[in-house]
Amino acid sequence: MKKITCSYCGTEFQAEPEKTWTLTSLPDKNGNITVTIMAIWKCPQCGRKIRGVYAKYKTGAETRGKTPRERLIEILNAHDKISLDDISKQLGFRKDAIRKAIQNLLKQGLIKGKLENDTWIKEP
Ligand SMILES: [Zn+2]
Repeated sequence: MKKITCSYCGTEFQAEPEKTWTLTSLPDKNGNITVTIMAIWKCPQCGRKIRGVYAKYKTGAETRGKTPRERLIEILNAHDKISLDDISKQLGFRKDAIRKAIQNLLKQGLIKGKLENDTWIKEP
């Protein structure tokens, strides 16, 4: 878990974010896209909300060396909620193959969340 410093009262704490969302850059000259996962944490000391970067990674040319499984894990971790159709579009695999892969990852404890009506819902 990431260590957060409250920008209001200076308290350092570790907590899961209350909310996350994704910012995607335009592709650079190598075709890489930088995906930034933004998050909001609540300070346990003063109760104020702090916004910051939760994670940052590149996709595109640099992800070509990654296995579909690694890319799937990345996609699942980057979204609070995403439909299997959208994952299917991003990875280029059939929906039922993705459903199976997600069920396997869940069994292995590599991801946290659930599938509901063909939508991936990440556990907070
Ligand atoms: Zn605070």
